[in-house]
Amino acid sequence: MIIDGKAVAAQIRAELLTRTARFFEKAGRAPSLAVLLIGDDPASQIYIRNKIKGCAETGIRSFDVRLPEDTSEEEAVLAVRKLAQQTDLDGILVQLPLPKHLNAEKILAEIPPEKDVDGFSAANIGALALGKEGMVACTPLGVMELLRRYGIEPRGKHAVVIGRSNIVGKPMSLLLLNADATVTVCHSHTKNLKEECLRADILIAAAGKAKLLTADMVKEGAVVIDVGTNRDENGKLCGDADFENVQKKASFITPVPGGVGPMTIAMLLQNVCTAAEKRLK
Ligand code: NAD
Repeated sequence: MIIDGKAVAAQIRAELLTRTARFFEKAGRAPSLAVLLIGDDPASQIYIRNKIKGCAETGIRSFDVRLPEDTSEEEAVLAVRKLAQQTDLDGILVQLPLPKHLNAEKILAEIPPEKDVDGFSAANIGALALGKEGMVACTPLGVMELLRRYGIEPRGKHAVVIGRSNIVGKPMSLLLLNADATVTVCHSHTKNLKEECLRADILIAAAGKAKLLTADMVKEGAVVIDVGTNRDENGKLCGDADFENVQKKASFITPVPGGVGPMTIAMLLQNVCTAAEKRLK
């Protein structure tokens, strides 16, 4: 069965419209998000445009703050600190990657944990590691939501995550662990990737390597979630899995595009709405 991330994301956005309208009735204002972009990375500009569009479509007010590429660390810290002090802001997002001379960890640390809607700050990653409530990174959260809405229960299953980045692989493995799966995390130094993958009931590919996951690495009936976003030799968007062949063995599989991708922004919008509701309480 092909998991339709686009349809699930559309459903979540429709649910959010109701939530933001209810919030507006109670608070007299819309939930709000500030997006800070430093520099002019073209991909970041597209991501930001999509996030702002998503906000408008779900009744969230967004502010777009832009600083030049040569912004100093001190200026960046001050800019985030200023946003953190704005009482009418529910969420703050610093678009990554930052220009190379800036220390992302230091800048992200200025976002109050309850407004860190990307869930990238040390405070929120720490909360996730401790199994405590906090803001969770949008892509792995989107994967969990897809599993939940398709009735796929991680408890007692063997989950294998390929990738250990701070924004996808690591939080993904913690979420699965917190959901009572037995988790194996693979990365570029893993010796027997095929053997590890063959043991997976739930296989999450987040390496960013086209065609890394081939059918001979997948157990019959496994659930395959493909987070990878790559270009194939013809420049066409593709995931980490050899979709055509892997889908013949998987019980469920996400396509690229149209799988995990649409869930990421939907989860960001959901995090903003949740942050606003919590502050109102
Ligand atoms: P990253 O480059 O930071 O991390 C990749 C990870 O994969 C690393 O931990 C590395 O050790 C591992 N890896 C790389 N090659 C490997 C190999 N041959 N075998 C085993 N492990 C290997 O990337 P990231 O930011 O975590 O993103 C991963 C992929 O997910 C990328 O394609 C990215 O574009 C995509 N992504 C998609 C979304 C979305 O919304 N769909 C969001 C974020 C990232």
